[in-house]
Amino acid sequence: MKRVILKKGVHTKIVRGNPWIYDNEISKVLGEINPGDVVDIYDSSNSFIGRGYINPNSKIRVRILTRKEEEINRDFFRERIIRAWEYRKKVVDTSSCRVVFAESDFLPGLIVDKFEDILVIQTLTLGIDRFKEIIVEVLDEIFNPRGIYERNDVPVREIEGLPQIKGPIKGDFDPKVIINENEVKILVDIEDGQKTGYFLDQRENRRALKGLVDGAEVLDVFCYTGSFSLHALKYGAKRVLAVDSSKIALELAKENAKLNGFLDKIEFVEENAFHLLKNFHKEGRSFDVVILDPPAFAKSQRNLDNALRGYKEINLRAMKIIKDGGFLITCSCSQHVTLEIFQKVIESASYDANKILRLVEFRYQAKDHPILFSYPESLYLKCGIYQVLKKL
Ligand code: SAH
Repeated sequence: MKRVILKKGVHTKIVRGNPWIYDNEISKVLGEINPGDVVDIYDSSNSFIGRGYINPNSKIRVRILTRKEEEINRDFFRERIIRAWEYRKKVVDTSSCRVVFAESDFLPGLIVDKFEDILVIQTLTLGIDRFKEIIVEVLDEIFNPRGIYERNDVPVREIEGLPQIKGPIKGDFDPKVIINENEVKILVDIEDGQKTGYFLDQRENRRALKGLVDGAEVLDVFCYTGSFSLHALKYGAKRVLAVDSSKIALELAKENAKLNGFLDKIEFVEENAFHLLKNFHKEGRSFDVVILDPPAFAKSQRNLDNALRGYKEINLRAMKIIKDGGFLITCSCSQHVTLEIFQKVIESASYDANKILRLVEFRYQAKDHPILFSYPESLYLKCGIYQVLKKL
C-alpha cells in the first residue's frame, strides 16, 4: 500500500479543488515508492482525500488524479477524455482545438491538441507518461484520427526523469497541416513548430482584432507564423509589418500569407523586437495598431524582476509609436506574471510613456484552455486591448 500523509492544514486546499501537493506539505510517505507511482493521499487525521501520482524528483510531489477510490485505468482515462471533448464541443470550433489541457481537465501533465484530423500529444510528467500507451489507444478509439504525433521534446520532462522525444505514434502523414481559424487558413508545422506546433490559445484574442484594424497600419511583434497579422488583414488592415527573431517562423508566416492571398499587404522583418521597437521610436515610425505577443519572459519565479522589466520596456516603446487613438493589444503568457502584476506593469509603462490608456477589453486564453478558480495557475494568458491616447 502506497500512501502519502499530508501535514495538518494542507487538506483544505486539496478539498477545495487544488491538484498539487508540494514536497513540504507531506508529513509521511508509507510503502515502497517508485517515481511515477500512483499513491493514495490521506490527510493528517488519516482520512482518504484522493489518489494521484508521485515524483520525488519534482517539487510538485503529488498531482491528484481523482478524489474517489477508483482504479486509474483505461476506463478512467476514457471517461476523462470524453468529458474534456464534450466540453470543447459546447464552447469552441472543434475542427482544431485543445482537447485536453492537463490539470484543467483533471488529467495532470497531459496535453492533447487537435489539428483537423491529426492529434498531437505531450505527456509532461513521469506519472502521466506511464499511461501513455493507454491514453493513445483511448484517443485513437474516440477520435479515430488520421495520425497521432508525440511532441515530447520539452525540457521539463528532464526534471521528471524523462527523455526528450518526438515523432509519429500512429499513421504516416505529412506533419504540415492546414487548419482553419476564424476563416483564416493556417499552415501548422506539428513536427518543428513551437510547443505542439501552433498557439491555439490566442484564437479568440485574434478574433478580437475585428473592428479595431479596419484600414489600419498594423505592427505585429513576436508574430511567429503570422496568425495575428493574417487576422488583421482579414479584418481590413491596410498593411501589416510582422516581426519575429526566428527565421523558420517567418518562413512559415510567408507561406501563410500566400495561402490567404495577402502577400502584397504584408512585410516580414527578422529582428530582435527590443531593438526594432527602440529604433522605430528613434526614426519616428508610427502605427495605428501594435500587437505584442512575446514568449513567456518569466520562466520561473526567480527571474520575475527581469521579466517585468522586459514587459515594461516593450509596452512602453509600443505605446510611444502608436498614433493618438490607436490600439495596443498586449499579451503575457507567463504563468508567474499574475493578472494584477501584468496590469500594473502596463499602467506603469503608460505613465512613463505619458499616455492615457482606455481599456477596450481584457481577455484570457481561449475557452479550450479552461481556467479553474481552485487552481489559479491555470490562468496563464493575459491579453489587454487598450486605446492609447495623448493626455488632453
Ligand atoms: N503571436 C504568435 C505567437 C508568438 S510566440 C501567434 O499568434 O501565433 C513568441 C514568438 O516570439 C516566437 O515566434 C519567437 O520566435 C519570438 N521571439 C522570441 N524572442 C524574441 C525577440 N527578442 N524578438 C523577436 N521575436 C522574438
